[in-house]
Amino acid sequence: MRIPLDGASLDTMTYAGDLGTSPTRLLLLGPQGAGKGTQAQRLAAFTGARHISTGDLIRAEIAAGTRLGRTIKGYNDRGELVPDATVIDMVRPILSEDNWLLDGFPRTLAQAIALDRALGDLGAGLDLVVALEAPDAALIERLSGRRQSEATGKIYHLVSNPPGPDDPGPFIQRDDDRPEHIRRRLELYHAETEPLKEYYAARGLLAHVDALQPIEQVTARILWQMEAHMPARKAAPRAPWAPQPIPLRDEEWRDAVPSAS
Ligand code: ADP
Ligand code: ADP
Repeated sequence: MRIPLDGASLDTMTYAGDLGTSPTRLLLLGPQGAGKGTQAQRLAAFTGARHISTGDLIRAEIAAGTRLGRTIKGYNDRGELVPDATVIDMVRPILSEDNWLLDGFPRTLAQAIALDRALGDLGAGLDLVVALEAPDAALIERLSGRRQSEATGKIYHLVSNPPGPDDPGPFIQRDDDRPEHIRRRLELYHAETEPLKEYYAARGLLAHVDALQPIEQVTARILWQMEAHMPARKAAPRAPWAPQPIPLRDEEWRDAVPSAS
């Protein structure tokens, strides 16, 4: 079964794994709380691409107590952006891989230009930029209820997406998800990151997806955009990891997901 083009039956649809094994270079753009991490974890399971979250890389560096981690801790704790040069240096080595979903990078024009340069040096280009769209009021509610499993890294919400009884915790609230930091981070998004939508739209790379839909429907819409914008994938052979079909439901996600890093 293919993803229905009219979107009418997305409530009950399943995804049959029509995306092939050709590499993916995809950006997830969107404000804090739009669901970039949630969707990237799910898409990694469906496509086999590696989920690269600069927020996760930065938190890992801080947790490891490295010199770099100590330098960037203050920015992260205050909800400020880490300096461009530092983030670009962290991401650049990973870009030489050819199958990834970038979540949280680029966030400034300087980062977007650095990404273009790095890909240009590799003779590669972006396949698609997905912009997840949601109003600030919804984002504030989502961020206030966000929790992340310390054991698995999986993202939850206290109300809309709570951990199951067997899910390993503990379930941590990030310091920067406290209300006093959330507004500042959203302001930064609108000022620094949102203009990147125009940057990618001008190159015909941007697809908008309504992030207010339930989680599995947002995933379905992104997969549909990938099929629409990455036609080479349609001809690719079905990958061995693509079950027949994959129900887009969270219970199954847990078993399907490879280790999200
Ligand atoms: P981002 O990476 O864009 O900051 P997350 O993926 O961490 O966003 O999601 C933020 C919060 O919103 C989490 O608590 C997550 O469980 C919840 N969430 C994500 N997508 C949805 C959705 N479509 N509907 C309801 N809640 C969602
Ligand atoms: P969210 O899920 O709320 O969007 P992230 O986990 O992506 O937040 O990022 C957490 C923090 O890490 C940011 O507030 C910022 O301090 C830092 N950070 C992450 N990505 C970048 C980036 N591309 N440029 C600068 N700082 C970043």
